[in-house]
Amino acid sequence: MRRRTLLEELRLGAVPPMVEELAAAEGMETGDLVDVLLDGTAVTPYNITRTMDKPCVVGGGSRIKVNANIGTSSDYTGMEDELVKVRAAVEAGADTVMDLSTGGPIDRVRDAVVAASPVPVGSVPIYQAAVRAQDEKGSIVAMDPDDMFRAIEDHCASGVDFITVHCGVTGKVLEALKANPRVADIVSRGGAFLAGWILHHGEENPLYAGFDRLLDIARKYEVTLSLGDGLRPGCIEDASDAAQVAELVVLGELVKRCREAGVQCMVEGPGHIPLHQVEANIRMAKGITRGAPFYVLGPLVTDVAAGYDHIAAAMGGAIAAMAGADFLCYVTPREHLGLPTAEDVREGVIVTRIAAHAADIARGIPGARDWDLSMSRARKGLQWEEQLELALDPVKARRLFGERQVEGEKACTMCGDFCAMRFVSDYLGREDISECG
Ligand code: SF4
Repeated sequence: MRRRTLLEELRLGAVPPMVEELAAAEGMETGDLVDVLLDGTAVTPYNITRTMDKPCVVGGGSRIKVNANIGTSSDYTGMEDELVKVRAAVEAGADTVMDLSTGGPIDRVRDAVVAASPVPVGSVPIYQAAVRAQDEKGSIVAMDPDDMFRAIEDHCASGVDFITVHCGVTGKVLEALKANPRVADIVSRGGAFLAGWILHHGEENPLYAGFDRLLDIARKYEVTLSLGDGLRPGCIEDASDAAQVAELVVLGELVKRCREAGVQCMVEGPGHIPLHQVEANIRMAKGITRGAPFYVLGPLVTDVAAGYDHIAAAMGGAIAAMAGADFLCYVTPREHLGLPTAEDVREGVIVTRIAAHAADIARGIPGARDWDLSMSRARKGLQWEEQLELALDPVKARRLFGERQVEGEKACTMCGDFCAMRFVSDYLGREDISECG
């Protein structure tokens, strides 16, 4: 007998213990979480073939989640490096990691990442199909539809919890791209591979034409489909154009088919978007995809921040999340410049968490504002140990404080003898200023 998916179980009124635990972790009523899972505005990515310590909910009014991309490239193939990055990402507070490996022993790296990760793991199987086709058949476009579905099944069988599938790159969407030329054309690797395949063969995208086959695999493993935006704008000049919107309309249709099939899905979004277009993009995407959890890469709000692209992305991410995006994919300082190191991963996660937390405050997520209030009180009391512990990045806060602090001083060295907090407390008669450190 065919197994029932989480959505089908919930439709029958059965609530697995995992859902109750997730609701408690989010500070939500179990019934409220069940409602948003049932209507598809939230998902919980997990693969039935594995267990994990820290599953999470994406969407449905839950805390904004942060993803960290790791993975080898053809130039850096070391598995150990990627496992160090998984640890760095999780320690820095990433809610999920995606293994985007395209070099070295891809299967072994993915197996090791799944085994090492306490949080949900995502992957992009078309990368592996392309690498195999290049190695075994001499070119990426030589892959056939079975090669694509074999890679998808392999990834799901290996335990990944969500997969990016670029089903929205259709022949019609590519017509929109050709009719409306871009500056940066296609910057998504998966989108580029599939566009090249469609144009070379003159056939429809197998992941779109064979979407039912994809749904069957997702059902079998309970893998969440992340409907990728292969036509995401790769520069602000291309933002919000015809090709981006044409693909989004296709993704909206596929969201409906996922829900009908009892398969959890989310939708991926841009990319590069100027600040003044971010909110409209999110609202449009939420409307077209019937409120599906929206997963954005950035969006970067300028193209010229090389070396600081994590900050350009966090600016867009905060606005996007405030406007309704649910899931922020981090960007590291090395974006557009090279494969990130573990330190880049750490910094990317922290900066993206700042954006996510800022949006949590704006959206009234339970507990978000209380954290800031605790910090403010510790700051007013010059309670340094408490401030350092409450910092979103306690490691860096402790290092910076220690490097410049004068022993025995209550104030920090920013204003020293002229500490405003202490000065006002003296005159207001407050006695809650503690000793330094
Ligand atoms: S010295 Fe200045 S920066 Fe430092 S705690 Fe006092 S007011 Fe704040």
